[in-house]
Parts: sequence; structure tokens; C-alpha cells
Amino acid sequence: MASVLLSVNQVSKSYGARKAVDGVSFQVRQGQTVGLIGPNGAGKSTTVGMICGLLRSDSGSIVMDGEPIGQGPSEAKRKIGFVPQDLALYEDLSSLENLKLFGALYGLKGAPLKQRCEQALALVNLADRANDKPSTYSGGMKRRLNIAAALLHDPQLLILDEPTVGVDPQSRNAIFDTLETLKAQGRSLIYTSHYMEEVERLADHIVIIDHGKVLADETPAALYHRLPAQAALRAELSAAPSAALLSGVRALPGVTGAQGDGNVLDIGLADATHAPATLAWLAADCANAGVALLHFATAKTSLENIFLNLTGRSLRD
Ligand code: ADP
Repeated sequence: MASVLLSVNQVSKSYGARKAVDGVSFQVRQGQTVGLIGPNGAGKSTTVGMICGLLRSDSGSIVMDGEPIGQGPSEAKRKIGFVPQDLALYEDLSSLENLKLFGALYGLKGAPLKQRCEQALALVNLADRANDKPSTYSGGMKRRLNIAAALLHDPQLLILDEPTVGVDPQSRNAIFDTLETLKAQGRSLIYTSHYMEEVERLADHIVIIDHGKVLADETPAALYHRLPAQAALRAELSAAPSAALLSGVRALPGVTGAQGDGNVLDIGLADATHAPATLAWLAADCANAGVALLHFATAKTSLENIFLNLTGRSLRD
């Protein structure tokens, strides 16, 4: 397993009497993409603000590549690139000129600065618009420019705070393409979102946060295993499933659970590849027992259900 790059240990922060982050711990390994997911107000921005050293934690520690993140500039902070939801851009300057200003803040200058700016613009697919002002950009293009700005100093870890909020679907895909490229380059990412499907697409590891607390910290596959047996395969039988049939189904490879509700049998699967074998077994068993398999439907279980399962409410409530 890759080594730990970032370690967040029991970090807490209150704003006045409101505890925004309450004992949050998780890790990011080299090359890993961690999705930090939770509804609005869950504590995601406050958590990433502390990781970047923009906010001071009340307690706990954050260690980046072996060095604690504290106040003031440090080598550890330099290894992090942060893409905030909004970045102040100079509207009178071209995008390239804006990037040069950001790069200068990191001590870059001359030919290396120009080269980094051009590379970053190419990565976010804005090379052909480098000389245009950001005021002529769409919301999604501005977000991509923000990403380019955060990459100039070649950080090991890139943190993106809800990069697709308010962005049209096409730009959203362009942002994902960029992030997939960064991921393929071996860069580590933290991506905050309140859209589970976005996190599912990118993340190797998912940290679910609500009311400032971590509710789950697992791989997507492990999270799927937590889903109740109700979404992946639903079969309608001519009779209620017997106890023998239920225990037989539960013993099949890839089946995470099975439950009967009247004549309906709901089967949870680790993933859809187990559906054909499960159905074949079910058809044979029903035939043996003289029960007809009237109808079946498959559905991809959604990690969105996990949040519902953990909190009793949906992610967007
Ligand atoms: P998220 O990013 O998940 O939407 P935040 O970290 O922004 O969550 O907010 C967590 C909680 O802290 C919320 O209840 C929010 O209202 C509160 N909060 C965030 N920033 C401030 C602030 N500057 N002053 C007071 N309360 C804040």
C-alpha cells in the first residue's frame, strides 16, 4: 500500500458556540483520490481550510509528508495546492498574466514561470484562451483556471472545494477530465462535494462527514457492502420466498444480503457482475420448489443510499 501523504488527526474547530468540525480523522496516501462528502454545512470547507493552513484548528493535528501543518508558510504547505470555490482573479489581465502573478507568489520567475503557466493552461484545456481575460470565460472555464493556478507550484496534493458547484454539465465533464489526468499522473487529490456520483467517479477512498463528524471512511467497494439488501436485484415470485431460499441466496458469492417482502425478494449484490449467476441459481431453485419467477429487475445500487442509511436522511436535504 502506498505511503501516507496527509494525516488528519482528531481535528476540531468551533465558530463561537457552533462546533463545525468535531474530531475528524482521515488519511490520504500517495496517489490516492479521497472524496470528502457531506451535505451543505457538514464541515467540509472548514476541514480543508485547516489542512491548507488557512484556518487554525482548536485541537488535533494535521501532518503533511511528515511535517505538521501550522501557522505561517512552510515546506509542508507548499506541497499542497488549493482550489477554493472562488478565486480572486484580475479581470483586466489575461489568464496567462493572472497565472504569472500566482506563480510569482510561489517564487517562480522567468522561463520556468512561463513554462509552468503554459503547462497548467494546457492541462486544463485553456491553452487556446490563454490571452483572453477571465471575464470572457464561462463559470466552468474560470474553475479550470483556478485549478491551473493551484498547480503552478507542482503540489503533491491538490485539494478542490466543491469544484463543480454552479458549473454546466459540459464544463463539469471538462473538470473531471482534468482531474482524471492529474490522478493518472500520480498526484494525490482531495475532492469535496455533496454529489455522491461525482465522488464515486473519481475517488479511491470516500470520507463521509456530517455535523462535523466522520461517519464513514472506506473504499467505494467497502461502502457498497454496507448497503442494505434492497437495490441491486429484485425478483417477484409466485409465493413468498422460503427461509431455505433466503439462506441459499445469502450464501451465494457476491450476495451482500437478501430479504423477502411478501412475494418480492430483494437481493443486494457486491457488484452487478454477480447478477447473472445469482439469477440463474434463483431460477433453478424456484423451479425445484415449484415457485414461478414472475419478474425481475436489476438496478445499480447508489452510494447515495449509504448516506440515507447512516443518517436517516438524504444527502441533499
Ligand atoms: P461545508 O463546507 O460542508 O458546507 P462548512 O465547513 O462551510 O461546511 O461549515 C460547517 C459549519 O460551520 C456550518 O454550520 C457553517 O454554518 C459554519 N461556519 C462555516 N464558516 C463559518 C464562519 N466563518 N463563521 C461562523 N460559522 C461558520
